[in-house]
Amino acid sequence: MNDAQREELREHLLQRKRELLAQGDFKPGPNRNDPVGQADEDEQPLNEMNQVILSRRNRVRAQELAGIEATLRRMEVEPEEYGRCLDCDEWIPVGRLRLMPWAQRCVACEHEHSGPPEDGRRRHALDFID
Ligand SMILES: [Zn+2]
Repeated sequence: MNDAQREELREHLLQRKRELLAQGDFKPGPNRNDPVGQADEDEQPLNEMNQVILSRRNRVRAQELAGIEATLRRMEVEPEEYGRCLDCDEWIPVGRLRLMPWAQRCVACEHEHSGPPEDGRRRHALDFID
């Protein structure tokens, strides 16, 4: 990892952070206040489902933002350590960092760390970049 590469990745992180912040929170639409007795009974479960989806999206975004901020802080404190795997001390390939500049572990350690996929969900394709 040379300075130019690190600077490029830092820009990428800052850009992504700006995007996430610009999006703000995903707000669920206003609740409909139908007069009692006229409420559409099919509507309620749908609203609840939308809110679950929205809060999950917010959570994923908050996690990504936290990862980006932690990475930017580490870059500030120990720039020469940026890109080193937290677990095995090997350098994370730059190709992986280009796609996920906030990655803290190499692919092998990431799998070790996060364990098998929960509830059979498919892993994100980026998990396999090496
Ligand atoms: Zn590793």
